[in-house]
Amino acid sequence: MPPAGAGPDPAAAEVEDAGCERCGSAERLLLRRCPPWAWQRCSRCGHVYLAPRPPARAHARLLRAALSERVPEIEAAERREAPARRRWIEELRAGCPAGARVLEIGSRFGFLLADLRAAEFDAAGIEPSPIGCRFAERWLGVRPECVQAEEWEGPAGAFDVVLADEALERVCDLERVLTLARAWLRPSGRILVRWRVPLPAAADAPLRRRAFTTRTLDEALRAHGFADVDTQEDAWWKAARSGWTCARRP
Ligand SMILES: [Zn+2]
Repeated sequence: MPPAGAGPDPAAAEVEDAGCERCGSAERLLLRRCPPWAWQRCSRCGHVYLAPRPPARAHARLLRAALSERVPEIEAAERREAPARRRWIEELRAGCPAGARVLEIGSRFGFLLADLRAAEFDAAGIEPSPIGCRFAERWLGVRPECVQAEEWEGPAGAFDVVLADEALERVCDLERVLTLARAWLRPSGRILVRWRVPLPAAADAPLRRRAFTTRTLDEALRAHGFADVDTQEDAWWKAARSGWTCARRP
């Protein structure tokens, strides 16, 4: 408690506690502390989420500042993501017609977006970090729209595929983003999600607000009207344990 008369504590204002973002329950099991944050598992639905966590505005600032401008770190990110990017292209080539319209949620530096364009997909991206967007435009010649997914007024029914490469963990409002993703897809369009299997390390908090399991992501997608939800864990990218989930808008 701040001393009487000291006014509101500015640090405390950057932390909020909340119940499960999926079902609203406050019953939970503490999985890991990373002060002032903590990972919790909802006792009712099993969803893993960060609480305490930054409020939405503070989280938006974190997202905008998340990417480094340091060249060695950008190059390391490019190398680290290369196997996953190759696999994304293979998956999309196998399952989509040539020139399919693809939207990437959370394009970061734009490497996958550039690869999608090079593979002749009609690819668009959205990314909250102006650092990532500037890099993508200047060095890769692609222009993700610099906006949080929750705020993007994208065209309805326009995309064959919406993909999220470790991005759904970071959005502020998962429920809204899944609602929007469904709306951006044409009927029979697909959402493809890559997610990291292990519980995030302390360093990942508070940027990541949730962690998925096969069951919890499946339930979240079905709750938002997706069908034919299919997950493979570790099926294609061995470098880090990942889950790959595909679902279809009916
Ligand atoms: Zn819950």
